[in-house]
Amino acid sequence: MASEKRELLYHSVCLEEGDCKGCTTCMRYCPTQAIRVQNGKAKIIREKCIDCGECVRRCPYHAKRVVSDNFYTLKSFKHNIALVAPAFCGQFSKVTNIDLILTGLKKIGFDDVFEVARGAEVITAKTKEILAEKNHEGPYISSACPAVVRLIAVKFPSLSDMVIPLTSPMEAAAQMARREAMEKTGLEDDEIGVFFISPCPAKVTAVKQPLALDKSSVSGVIPVKDVYMKLVHALKSVDKIEKLSVSGKDGIRWARSGGETEALGIKNYIAVDGIHNVIKMLEELEDEKLNNIEFIEALACTSGCTGGPLNVENEFVANSRIRNLTEHLEKGEAKGENLSLMWDKKVEYEPFSPLDTDINKALTKMQQLEEIYARLPQLDCGSCGSPSCRDFAEDIVRGKAQERDCIFRLREKIEVLAKEIEELGKMIKE
Ligand code: SF4
Ligand code: SF4
Repeated sequence: MASEKRELLYHSVCLEEGDCKGCTTCMRYCPTQAIRVQNGKAKIIREKCIDCGECVRRCPYHAKRVVSDNFYTLKSFKHNIALVAPAFCGQFSKVTNIDLILTGLKKIGFDDVFEVARGAEVITAKTKEILAEKNHEGPYISSACPAVVRLIAVKFPSLSDMVIPLTSPMEAAAQMARREAMEKTGLEDDEIGVFFISPCPAKVTAVKQPLALDKSSVSGVIPVKDVYMKLVHALKSVDKIEKLSVSGKDGIRWARSGGETEALGIKNYIAVDGIHNVIKMLEELEDEKLNNIEFIEALACTSGCTGGPLNVENEFVANSRIRNLTEHLEKGEAKGENLSLMWDKKVEYEPFSPLDTDINKALTKMQQLEEIYARLPQLDCGSCGSPSCRDFAEDIVRGKAQERDCIFRLREKIEVLAKEIEELGKMIKE
């Protein structure tokens, strides 16, 4: 049942098959072993994918795409607001003022702007309250990164109760933006479009199919790079910069790894970034090696949201710019009354489908898997089209691959055959 449900999950990451050369790069970097390469083309196993975007970042042929919204979607609403993540402000060289970026957005089709950093300030304050309650053993894990929340649901279900059940800064900001716009314009909720400018595919998925909310307050998601292309030109024609930025340093610093924790003022914490590092850290946590830690900030992209694959700028350059843009700012103050900040529902564990629904058959298949694995070279070379020998053995048991797809096993079989033919030849001569 669970796997059927997971098949139905929305995914923003997809393959443009015509552009795929079957090079296996994406397969080797996918953190959840969700990719196979068969018949010269990559294939995503939907139930395993967490939309982290690692394959989008790694594919040398740009064959992995992110399905998102575009500027045409703005036509569906009477009043459109750009929801600006702090990471967005680090994308522009020669820009020394956040207000210039926000004013520019009003020139390319948005009626207003709202900083996600304001949502981050509200979430920071609420997180402090939750940490003070301390109602479980071990550390709390931040729920800010949707790829990490999905990763925990798919691979680390035993840690799900450690995830802080709070909505993201993006969702908090969307609620605040809507409320302000309704007051300002007198329009109804459904006449207002709130568009998040996203650095990553996981945020697209989090809006289209939120795991822990009944419905997102965000109307659509447009990638940073699409907005950037329009905005760089528009910035040249801004003659009067409006005073639009009201966020403090604490909200904006969420753009980079460690920023959330600095805003919380916690000393005993781990801030980990990059999906493979996050996995290592969660494995340690699962092994109860981190019970003395108070808080874990885990972000799927290297350096944090500035490292998202939909950005245009190098993450380290972007982080440096954000530091410069915000050095004069005050800490910032949470202003957001009566918002719905807690999750509507628990994130359910969505296991990958078992080897068999019948327990006895599943056990037999597990034994077969181990036998096949023992015969394989255990080099994890990937030339069979599966990310590791163990995954390959599992694919064989599931009927998705054949042992001869392994070049080492094939060579062994050919050697045996060659010997048999030689023996036969000798017998014929005799
Ligand atoms: S990285 Fe993956 S999607 Fe890109 S060409 Fe190679 S196999 Fe195909
Ligand atoms: S988005 Fe992430 S989990 Fe999904 S296939 Fe790509 S690398 Fe794997």
